[in-house]
Amino acid sequence: MKIAVLGTGYVGLSTGVCLSDSGHEVVCMDVDEEKIEQLSKGIPPIYEPGLKELLKRNIGNGRLKFTTSHKEGLHNKEVIIIAVGTPQSNNGSADLSFLEQAAKDIAENLNQNAIITIKSTVPVGTNDVIKNILKENLPHDISVDMAANPEFLRQGSAISDTLKADRIVIGTENKQAASKLEKMYSILHIPILHTSIRSAEMIKYASNAFLAMKISFINEIANLCEATGANVEDVSIGMGLDKRIGEAFLKPGIGYGGSCFPKDVKALYHTASEHDMNFGLLEETMTINNQQRELLVWKALSRFGDLNGKKIAMLGLSFKPETDDLREAPSIVISNELINQGARVSAYDPVAMNNAKKVLNTQVEYAKSPEEAVLDADAVFIVTEWKSFVESNWKQLVKEMKSPIIFDGRNCLKEEEIIKCEQVEYYPIGKPKII
Ligand code: NAD
Repeated sequence: MKIAVLGTGYVGLSTGVCLSDSGHEVVCMDVDEEKIEQLSKGIPPIYEPGLKELLKRNIGNGRLKFTTSHKEGLHNKEVIIIAVGTPQSNNGSADLSFLEQAAKDIAENLNQNAIITIKSTVPVGTNDVIKNILKENLPHDISVDMAANPEFLRQGSAISDTLKADRIVIGTENKQAASKLEKMYSILHIPILHTSIRSAEMIKYASNAFLAMKISFINEIANLCEATGANVEDVSIGMGLDKRIGEAFLKPGIGYGGSCFPKDVKALYHTASEHDMNFGLLEETMTINNQQRELLVWKALSRFGDLNGKKIAMLGLSFKPETDDLREAPSIVISNELINQGARVSAYDPVAMNNAKKVLNTQVEYAKSPEEAVLDADAVFIVTEWKSFVESNWKQLVKEMKSPIIFDGRNCLKEEEIIKCEQVEYYPIGKPKII
């Protein structure tokens, strides 16, 4: 099949490389010239395991191309996939301006009938808005079918999630479009759910909001475990063994972040308000998450009394491991709050340092290694659960510190290793501390 993808971010690029690897001819387009120049040379602009290999292979076999020209990219394509960003606007709703521009770009350059597939996360009813823009701007002899095909990949495992998704949701307005998109994905052997366009749009928000709610729920349970002497890890296992609950997303931590959960929960809340509904459950999910991001700072304040002049090593800056993305990362709130409290922040991340320098407070200092970050530190905060931190020699690392105090925001360090460290104080989340 001949496919065009608009937007080469996490979603568009993963979709483009995976569809070309499945045998389709794919042209990916972006308005970002630098990105396209890099991609054309096989250089991924983001860090995602497996992406580089697929990129090289499919550029090499000629099935994957990149261009900034919508005219060239849209030429003779049967399926157009829109995967541009839908960031949060000031009032919490989804900003659809990139999507609306993409629709205009398509209308100006499309030379044959096609299925316009919206993969970006969009509020219910957006397909209708985009269809109207297309109708107004397309030449009269060209018609399009609309489809909503939301994406569920996770950053850090974008390629394997695309190739082995739990489900593909296809919302269409007619059977021909539905069966064409089903054929496009058939080689992946992933269960496909056909729905109306509005239901498909809603499935994406309902799924993300539910997962965010599960995270906020377990974080509150963790805080209650600390207050009552229970151990949240045992509680999570005990809950997760119940098939009605399931074990996923029951890991306590310092809150969800990233480019999706925060904005999608807000956008769904906004959609509810537009329909005169107060979705209080979502409001509480957001409040708990905001509080949870500050938890390590509160714990450190309660341990030290005052953080003025203290050196805090912050290990992990990306919003989760295996990505260099800092959008809505807890590290932003934590470093700002530490600096407000007068602390010195020495930060380290295995892949996100360059991005961190663009968004973190300018007073944050950057170390070249975990060893350098913890040197003479009064405490260390584990902010992202990178495997390399888990596997570090903590017995040695704590010796470099002024005081061997660890606040583990991800409950990722191995307690049996921590116990072996001399004079250590270890504060996990929702379970007993080790002193
Ligand atoms: P992103 O911001 O990383 O990338 C979007 C890309 O679109 C950018 O490179 C931008 O330059 C490009 N673009 C903007 N306007 C364009 C136009 N007119 N023509 C061509 N390219 C254009 O975004 P992302 O993280 O890939 O997310 C895209 C959508 O998918 C969003 O709606 C997001 O909510 C959703 N989503 C994201 C994830 C995720 O984990 N990142 C997961 C599922 C769904």
